[in-house]
Amino acid sequence: MNGKKIKSILESSPNDEKCTVRGWVRTFRANRFIALNDGSTIENLQCVVDFEKLDENLLKQINTGAALQLSGTLVESQGSGQQVELQVTELSILGSSDPESYPIQPKKHSLEFLREKAHLRVRTATFSAVMRVRSALSFAVHQFFQEEGFFYVNTPIITGSDAEGAGEMFRVSTLNPKNPPLNKDGNPDFKEDFFGKETNLTVSGQLEAEAYALALGDVYTFGPTFRAENSNTTRHLAEFWMIEPEMAFYDLYDNMDLAEKFITSVLKHVLISCKKDLKFLDERFNKEENTKPQQQRSTMGLLEKINFVVSNDFKRVSYTEAIDILRNSKPNKKKKFQYPVNEWGIDLQSEHERFLVEKHFNCPVILFDYPANIKAFYMRRNDDGKTVRAMDILFPGIGEIVGGSQREERLEVLEERIKEMDIDAEELWWYLDLRRFGSVPHSGFGLGFERLVQFATGMGNIRDVIPFPRTPQNAAF
Ligand code: ATP
Ligand code: MN
Repeated sequence: MNGKKIKSILESSPNDEKCTVRGWVRTFRANRFIALNDGSTIENLQCVVDFEKLDENLLKQINTGAALQLSGTLVESQGSGQQVELQVTELSILGSSDPESYPIQPKKHSLEFLREKAHLRVRTATFSAVMRVRSALSFAVHQFFQEEGFFYVNTPIITGSDAEGAGEMFRVSTLNPKNPPLNKDGNPDFKEDFFGKETNLTVSGQLEAEAYALALGDVYTFGPTFRAENSNTTRHLAEFWMIEPEMAFYDLYDNMDLAEKFITSVLKHVLISCKKDLKFLDERFNKEENTKPQQQRSTMGLLEKINFVVSNDFKRVSYTEAIDILRNSKPNKKKKFQYPVNEWGIDLQSEHERFLVEKHFNCPVILFDYPANIKAFYMRRNDDGKTVRAMDILFPGIGEIVGGSQREERLEVLEERIKEMDIDAEELWWYLDLRRFGSVPHSGFGLGFERLVQFATGMGNIRDVIPFPRTPQNAAF
């Protein structure tokens, strides 16, 4: 069964060539015009049938959602909008679709409604565009790192260490939940479990990536990540994909440079490779923004935002400077923040991050040198004794898109931090070994892939940029 993709047909010029296409009906008008889509592009191919020559029974089955195979001649289009159309000579129904019960009708559906139909929503223009951009971005991620000489490593998905994610992890167990073996304290005895210990789904591949960076030099992971945090926001999923580069001999500034170059490069890639999808999403974004009250509207369009990020440097600001800006800001003085900014040392809330990015600087911001006690144990301590070499990258409309740091490479300092934070050092024996044998300065970061896809597609809810989202109380499909 030879068929041509609609994308390549639409790029060709009409030459009275015979061809066969297969796809799904988006609309069928006037018993004559089929708009056929095969997923290869946002555009439909207009296919013209001669209904007088068609068996009536066949005609009845050309409904929205039905799968068809059409053969005919490619001719110059009579209608406006496209160059070519298919003059159909043969038509077969590959899969019919009941027009009464098919949920995806040719009209506007709400994103909420479509979330309930996640198995079919990708047949809409919006979701197919988002998923093609997502695919292009993930290709660009690999391309970027491979061209920079990084090695792709696959860190474990089932992890035996809980140093990073205490309380936010999904347990992996084959014990009988009804009647687990108990230890002498009356708790489930995980020695009897599959791995002979408690295991969980990973919240980050960083610790393992560090081991690989200290041998291969520059490495990256790109894989599924799980967090059992009960945060029902538009930016959190229970299952998401994270990109985690880890580089030997990099300090925090090298780390920032790489992160900025990386984000800029993958966005440039989709600007070129996803032109039509982005144009469609840009128009969708504008329409969506226009339904919001004036003050909440984005000041830039989607393409404008992407171009802005690609062509402007990210603003670099220390945590201490940021606190000063926030403390003296209008919303803080007028008590408009839900969490007032009074003293150095507080964890920044999303309202503070948004103020910095969307109101004060109006561009992506890299915040660095955070207070040690609001950050993880592995971040390198600064000489001031109070701050660590952490950096977060904040994006307009998204908030945090990257979290990273220079890692603590000094054994004694790391051991001290682990003790201070009451973490089980025994479990980290292998991680500490990395500081015993050939330790070097190194750095890395984690970027939430779906947040990047959100930024590139202008989708407001993270549930709409992953095929089948997992969130609290929702693992349908
Ligand atoms: P946030 O404060 O937004 O919850 P975080 O500080 O927990 O983020 P990190 O642990 O630094 O995030 O993880 C690195 C990156 O992974 C984040 O910058 C973000 O892009 C992404 N990320 C974190 N949690 C989630 C989640 N639940 N769903 C999707 N992406 C996430
Ligand atoms: Mn979080």
